[in-house]
Amino acid sequence: MATGFFWDEKCFWHAGGNYAYTLPVGGLVQPLAAGGLPENPETKRRLKNLMDVTGISAELDMRSAPMASQEALLRVHPQSYLDAFKQLSDAGGGELGRRTPFASGGYEIAALSAGLAVTAVDAVLTGALENAYALSRPPGHHCLPDFPNGFCLLANIAIAIEEAQSKGMAQRVAVLDWDVHHGNGTEAIYYDRDDVLTISLHQEGNYPLDTGAITDRGNGAGAGFNINLPLHAGAGHTAYLHAMDTIVVPQIEAFDPDIIIVACGFDASAIDPMARMLATAETFRQMTLRIKAAAQNLCDGRLVLVHEGGYSEVYVPFCGHATLEALSGSAISAPDPLGQTLDIRQPGPRFDAFLKAEIDHLAQLL
Ligand code: ZN
Repeated sequence: MATGFFWDEKCFWHAGGNYAYTLPVGGLVQPLAAGGLPENPETKRRLKNLMDVTGISAELDMRSAPMASQEALLRVHPQSYLDAFKQLSDAGGGELGRRTPFASGGYEIAALSAGLAVTAVDAVLTGALENAYALSRPPGHHCLPDFPNGFCLLANIAIAIEEAQSKGMAQRVAVLDWDVHHGNGTEAIYYDRDDVLTISLHQEGNYPLDTGAITDRGNGAGAGFNINLPLHAGAGHTAYLHAMDTIVVPQIEAFDPDIIIVACGFDASAIDPMARMLATAETFRQMTLRIKAAAQNLCDGRLVLVHEGGYSEVYVPFCGHATLEALSGSAISAPDPLGQTLDIRQPGPRFDAFLKAEIDHLAQLL
């Protein structure tokens, strides 16, 4: 059985406004010669291009998907939000929340992005694919039911989970969010529920500023089923794997899910402009191997990675390729051109010991 890779050129055509990183251009903020909003197509397009050049695409089951249905979107988002989004999209685009600009047709592209996640989860649950990666764009993990946020316009992963549950294909779902920013949208949607375990590994106090605390454990029936692991800025390869081995994997094992979904951002990388962490392509490979092993032990390998952030146009392709090598077991490699450079810039033994102790402390607070 194959690893699926869900992508669509139209998702690369989602366009934000005229920004220089997160600053609207104008006044004293000069437009950038290239780029603009950090959430731009290049990180994703260059990953797909690298996959084509190495040949790993030919080993994966490359697919597109239909847009998520209105019925599927309505399981997570109120009609009023979908109507407002569609209306503004038809009128040429604009902004409905915080840092979520979109252009004409943005609604259909966002529904397609969610559709990639929905169809990837469906294909893995039916057994058509062993596991899958959905190159969703726009991303989803910051989106609240009625408020788009942080480049996220629809809650892709939640839409996929609700669709699978409503069809009776899965009951218990574990979501691991290793995007460097807090998965506040997914957390909010499942905060009161015990059938979806949400775990977010993130840089403390990055984005959103006011969410992601270790003490936010869920509410009512959901108490204990939300886990935030806020890591210090500067955490690198060793700290991330320590968190995976000592907290993330044991917590998912205890939950015993029917499927594991990863909110897969690559913005914890050492050269990402939107965060201050030190993960490398090898870190993402090792995290993928660990979560894949957990899926094999717990739920017949059912695992779907859904793309979230990652803003280094140069490095996201190599982090993504390493992830796909681990996910598919392919022998085709894209050697990390920054590997040595980043390895010698990892935290030293003293800071790593401090980071490990902090992670052990977080474990005690759960
Ligand atoms: Zn992010």
